[in-house]
Formats: sequence, structure tokens, C-alpha cells
Amino acid sequence: MNITSQTGIVGLLGHPVSHSKSPEIMNAALQQLELPYVYVACDVEPTELAQVVARLRACKWRGWNVTIPHKVNIIPYLDRLDASAAEIGAVNTVVNQAGELVGYNTDGAGYVRSLTEENNLLLSEQRVVIIGAGGAARAVGYALATAGVKQITVINRTLAKAEELAHHLSQWTQTSATAILNAQREVEVATLVINTTSVGMSPHIDVTPINPMWLQPHHIVSDLVYHPRHTALLQGAQTRGAVTHTGLGMLLHQAAIAFELWFHQPAPIQLMRRVLENSLK
Ligand code: NAP
Repeated sequence: MNITSQTGIVGLLGHPVSHSKSPEIMNAALQQLELPYVYVACDVEPTELAQVVARLRACKWRGWNVTIPHKVNIIPYLDRLDASAAEIGAVNTVVNQAGELVGYNTDGAGYVRSLTEENNLLLSEQRVVIIGAGGAARAVGYALATAGVKQITVINRTLAKAEELAHHLSQWTQTSATAILNAQREVEVATLVINTTSVGMSPHIDVTPINPMWLQPHHIVSDLVYHPRHTALLQGAQTRGAVTHTGLGMLLHQAAIAFELWFHQPAPIQLMRRVLENSLK
């Protein structure tokens, strides 16, 4: 990489960031397209966030990704939110638009792009069950609801949180909420079942958020967990004859959409996928 006085900066703010694959993916994409930018990961303590954002603004960074634990707390330091970030209530991408810092959330759009790219389905016909009611559920739920799915049922360990998310999503589609333990019927009549909880994530890889015996061949089953790539839920779904969709595509496409917001051109998605797959091996 040829770094000169003209080289611009994009990057990632999080705490910790040492596990992140974003620098590998983004720098490979920047080099492929010969864009004069470098992508760096910054480990930022929560108490340092305001100061860091002010510095990045002063240094005219083109933009940056935001990850745990700053996705919500960064909002007061930005000038404006796009509708995606405002409705989801969290920011994962900041774009410096001629000095104005604009917050976006590309997680939900990344999920929908990955889902429709990898599966032949009509969103308007989907009866969706979202397992979980945290930040990822909010992003995926918003993107699916505004993309016009038929209905969404949120099932969660804590029913009150499922009810709150279902109420929020009801402005765009028909919704309901159920406690996870009582959700067999809701899962059985769904067409698309999405795990947005961390259940099944390494190192606790043998657990599933719902009983896989509830799954049937008519289901598409998505798991946002990408480590491991083929979670116990997806293995169970496959055994039951369902179509499976891993979390890798969402990870890839949320990054690609951020890239497109910064550089106004398509991201080199095949290259980014190869780099991501290699880095997760
Ligand atoms: P979060 O805001 O903390 O929400 C966690 C959700 O999981 C809550 O609904 C919580 O239920 C539920 N949960 C946690 N442990 C549980 C358990 N033992 N049994 C049942 N439910 C449980 O987290 P998040 O930001 O939404 O992230 C969730 C997962 O999505 C993580 O694994 C993350 O890596 C993954 N993710 C993947 C991508 C991607 O690109 N593929 C992007 C974003 C997130 P309660 O409400 O009852 O606590």
C-alpha cells in the first residue's frame, strides 16, 4: 500500500476491536479499486468517545464503522441520523458529508441483501419469526418490515422486550410477540425463522434458541451467529429438510453497504467474501 499525504482514512471504532475482520476486508477492497484510502481499527474506551469523534471530524476522516459498545452512545456526537439509524436507534456507520457527520445503520439492509441474494424468495409473502429482541433484531426487523414482509412475530426470552419491538415494527407491518418457550405454533406457521440471539455462538456451540424439531422443509432458517458458521440451529434445520442461511452474508453486506456510502461505487463483493471466508477459517 502506497501511503502518501493524499491518503484518506476510514476505519472502525469499538472496544475491543482486535477480533474484527473489517480491516482485512476493507483494505482489500480499497486496494482492488485503487482508492487512496486506508482502513484502521481504533480501540476506543467509552469515556474517550466524544473526544475521538471530535478528532476524527477535525482530521476529516471520510467515515467509519461503529461497533460494540458505541452503537447507541455515539448518536449525540453526530450531526444527523439517516432514517435507518433513527428507527433502529443505533449507528454502525458514520459518513462525513462535507463536514457533516451522518449516522447510518447498514445491519438490517445488509441482512436483507444477503437473504435475497442467497435465496429465491418473495419478501411480500414471508411470515417471519424473529428470535430475540436486542439490537440485531431491531435492525433486521426494521429492514424486513419496511421491505414489505407479510407479518413478523418476535419471540424472546424476555416477553416485554418482544412486545416492545413488535409494537415498534407495527407501524410498517402486521406484528405479534410471544415468549420463546411458547412459540412452537408461531414457528411452525412461519416461512422465515431468524435467530438474532447470541445462542449457539462459540464457545457454547451445542445450544439452540428454539427446539429444532419445530422446523420443517418449508422453512428458510437464518442464523445471525457466524462463529461457528454452521450453528447447531442451522444443522438441526438442515436435518429437518429446511433451507439454511448463515450470518456470514449479513456481515459481508453490511460492510459492503458502508463502503458504498463512503465511496459512491459498488463494493468488490466477491473479493470481500473471499477475504472474509479466509479470515474466519
Ligand atoms: P443484544 O442486543 O445483547 O441482544 C441479545 C438478544 O439475545 C436478546 O433478545 C436476549 O434476550 C437474547 N439472548 C441472549 N442470551 C440468551 C439465552 N441464553 N437464551 C435466550 N435468549 C438469549 O445483542 P445483539 O447486538 O442483538 O447481537 C445478537 C447476536 O447477533 C450476536 O451473536 C451477534 O454476534 C450477532 N450479530 C451478527 C451480525 C452479522 O453480521 N451476522 C450483526 C449483528 C449481530 P433477553 O432480551 O431475554 O435478554
